[in-house]
Amino acid sequence: MTDELIKGFEDFKRYQYEGDGALMPSLVENGQSPKYFIISCIDSRSNPGTIFRARPGTFFAHKAMGAIVRPYKKGTALAAALQFALNYNKVDTIVVLGHTQCGAMQALVNDIEDEEISEFIKVAQHALQRAKSKCDCCAEDIQAQTEKEALLESVTNLKHYPSVEKALSEGRVTIKPWLFDMKAGDLFEFNEDKGEFIVITTHETKEDSRQHA
Ligand SMILES: [Zn+2]
Repeated sequence: MTDELIKGFEDFKRYQYEGDGALMPSLVENGQSPKYFIISCIDSRSNPGTIFRARPGTFFAHKAMGAIVRPYKKGTALAAALQFALNYNKVDTIVVLGHTQCGAMQALVNDIEDEEISEFIKVAQHALQRAKSKCDCCAEDIQAQTEKEALLESVTNLKHYPSVEKALSEGRVTIKPWLFDMKAGDLFEFNEDKGEFIVITTHETKEDSRQHA
């Protein structure tokens, strides 16, 4: 049942322990020093290790349904992880990675009747309300807008975590609100000046400047 995982591990070992560019021996010997902290959804299609083709030691990772960052509360898994990453390591960029076709956002839009899930995702209710005020068409469009609104709300909440607040005030960290469009296979970043998500992947040529619909 777990054959594909074990096969994957064996490949990983071949490249990262025994290959010419193997990184694990030195990372184990000298310790890690990742520059990035990535907050992403649990969705198996939006796994940062996969979509960024990341090498070992590249980033700290935190996952939550919908990549939702709840308002700060002392002692949560995320608060502790950020404290560790920002105060005891040299992380200089936090990426909040949302994605399209997100099951958590769909559950929110459809008001899912599962208390365990709804209790967590309801924190994004404001995002849903804002999305509904901006588009009153089909559920698909509302979900797409909710994905963006929830991502921006997560970033706002993140800025109030004490470790992040301190690092921001000292100019040690920047926060990137990124949206992975799974259907198009593109990466977007929220541009504050323009007030919208702009594509940042560079493989595009003719449509480099197009905006996320
Ligand atoms: Zn998701």
